[in-house]
Amino acid sequence: MVLPDIKSQAREELAARFAEWTVPAYRLDQLLHWLYVRRVTSWDEMSNLPRDFREKLREHFSLQSLELDTKQGSRDTTQKFLWRLADHSLIESVLIPANPSLYGEASDRHTLCVSTQVGCAYGCKFCASGLEGWKRNLEPHEIVEQVLAIERDYSGGTLPTNASRSSEDRLKAGLQTGSERLVNNLVIMGMGEPLANYDHLLKALTILNAPWGGGIGARKITISTSGLVPQIRKLADEALQFRLAISLHGATDEVRGKIMPVNKKYPLKELAAACEYYQKKKGRMITFEYILMAGVNDSLEQVEPLAKLAQKLHAKVNLIPYNKVEGLPWERPSEPVQEQFLKNLEARGVTATLRREKGHDIDAACGQLRLKTERSLNTLAQ
Ligand code: SAH
Ligand code: SF4
Repeated sequence: MVLPDIKSQAREELAARFAEWTVPAYRLDQLLHWLYVRRVTSWDEMSNLPRDFREKLREHFSLQSLELDTKQGSRDTTQKFLWRLADHSLIESVLIPANPSLYGEASDRHTLCVSTQVGCAYGCKFCASGLEGWKRNLEPHEIVEQVLAIERDYSGGTLPTNASRSSEDRLKAGLQTGSERLVNNLVIMGMGEPLANYDHLLKALTILNAPWGGGIGARKITISTSGLVPQIRKLADEALQFRLAISLHGATDEVRGKIMPVNKKYPLKELAAACEYYQKKKGRMITFEYILMAGVNDSLEQVEPLAKLAQKLHAKVNLIPYNKVEGLPWERPSEPVQEQFLKNLEARGVTATLRREKGHDIDAACGQLRLKTERSLNTLAQ
């Protein structure tokens, strides 16, 4: 029997279980401290929990952590982590230091880009994540662990006692621990389509947001989607105030439909209406991501409809020069073409940025490191 993982459980669920077991309530705080402040990877490390309680936990829950397969980059630059899951699937996370406010969030220490699925079913023509298809959804704890495992890696194991003690005091005082964390901004734009794994994503984000868990403010969490209309509407009705980014990449159905098959199911008109609903419900700016691909969507004819859409929805536009994927024919346009596209958008009153991409040299676009690793593993196996 596969046990549920302890880091897929919300505080209330654990509280109910512990009440059944007649375990005193303070044990729950101790457990959560070991999981989310000390970030330990084994039951045995939870030294202040009685042995029989630890045994009971072991019988009912797994305590999985991510195994690091490969790390690329240095501490001061974008770093990419390739993780091996319990079933040997590979996923990636990208850590971006001192992010200059890409999605309207405060510019502070580290932004982490996390994956939500193994592979992706949406098959956008430019993307490495979709190339080998969809394998499975990540469990909530596999999303949560991407944050914890990186922080563990940075601190060289579990957090030192003095650092954790001050976090514990804050936790007790009911303050969020987010300001204490290495990772304090999240972007859900690694491998996979987050809104196609809606329930697990929401569970994971609830845990990462909670004061007893990750303590990362909802406004510091940006969810990126290729445009799943019903789920965007559902997300708008959730209590938490996540930021929303839409992978637009084309401002007419003709151009978008060529590179994003999802556009056939949810054409721009429906997508725009769902975005408007989100924007009105949340009262905050959404972001359009727009990869610039030479000869595909970089012509000035796309500027006009893109500007109209952005203005109608009060959206900001992030222009991203395409990141070359091995085996795919697409190229990024030259820098003057990129700059011209930006200027033309701005001339129409749109708030736009052109990402002079971090991490280009280490395959930072989603799915690329995994693809490379899987391909070289396959070659080795032949
Ligand atoms: N499935 C979600 C989130 C993951 S993709 C989505 O599509 O939004 C995260 C972002 O990376 C998307 O905007 C995607 O279009 C972009 N992306 C994918 N491949 C890329 C590449 N080769 N170069 C630049 N951006 C890429
Ligand atoms: Fe999937 Fe997003 Fe890549 Fe499209 S861009 S294939 S939705 S991960």
